[in-house]
Amino acid sequence: MVEPIFDYQFRLILIGDSTVGKSSLLKYFTDGKFAEVSDPTVGVDFFARLIEVRNGTRIKLQLWDTAGQERFRSITKSYYRNSVGALLVYDICNKESFDHIPDWMTEAKRYIEPHNPVFALVGCKLDLVRAGAAREVTEEEAKAFAQRHGIFHIETSAKTGLNVEQAFKAVTQEVFDRIQSGQYKIEDGWDGIKTGFSRPTHLDSNLVEAEPAKSSCC
Ligand code: GDP
Ligand code: MG
Repeated sequence: MVEPIFDYQFRLILIGDSTVGKSSLLKYFTDGKFAEVSDPTVGVDFFARLIEVRNGTRIKLQLWDTAGQERFRSITKSYYRNSVGALLVYDICNKESFDHIPDWMTEAKRYIEPHNPVFALVGCKLDLVRAGAAREVTEEEAKAFAQRHGIFHIETSAKTGLNVEQAFKAVTQEVFDRIQSGQYKIEDGWDGIKTGFSRPTHLDSNLVEAEPAKSSCC
């Protein structure tokens, strides 16, 4: 097996009311697929995907799903504590899910402290609106909320995949920018940001010869 090479690992979480589309967003982002039936309580705990930020640095995203815990507001503190970013997800056709976003944000801030996470506000199920369903959250009110908190906002569909990539990319880029500016540091005992495996560039020219030699000897 080839060791995946990445420069950093970021751990991100998705939070928001039950049924807003969190697991579907994760599935689409990591699998490129939409699964019509999804049981909220039987979930994969985490997903992973490698992406690149603008300067080509490779980031492995470790993406944690609530696996149904959000139904009972019983999300464990450790779920939050080791995260560097959180996608706050609401359903565009469900006003209540948007009204609960401040609560989710407050809870995440409280448990992620002393770290200061990157948030993004993500409206899901845009395909339903486009198919004629009633929109309950306007783009303007969501944008206004995001602006007040200085966070990124985007409307997506986990069904068609529209803007899914952009939502995760925005958070990843912002975390990376904060590392570059010195605002974030890698800390022992905290899994929000970790350094990964990266091959020193001076070895790249030896790559083709070096690898078969290794596998034939061991
Ligand atoms: P979670 O509880 O937040 O993880 O939500 P799920 O991802 O389990 O989705 C709840 C329900 O909404 C499921 O029936 C999904 O198939 C459906 N769903 C999720 N995202 C979308 C979307 O973007 N468009 C449509 N039409 N349905 C979606
Ligand atoms: Mg789920």
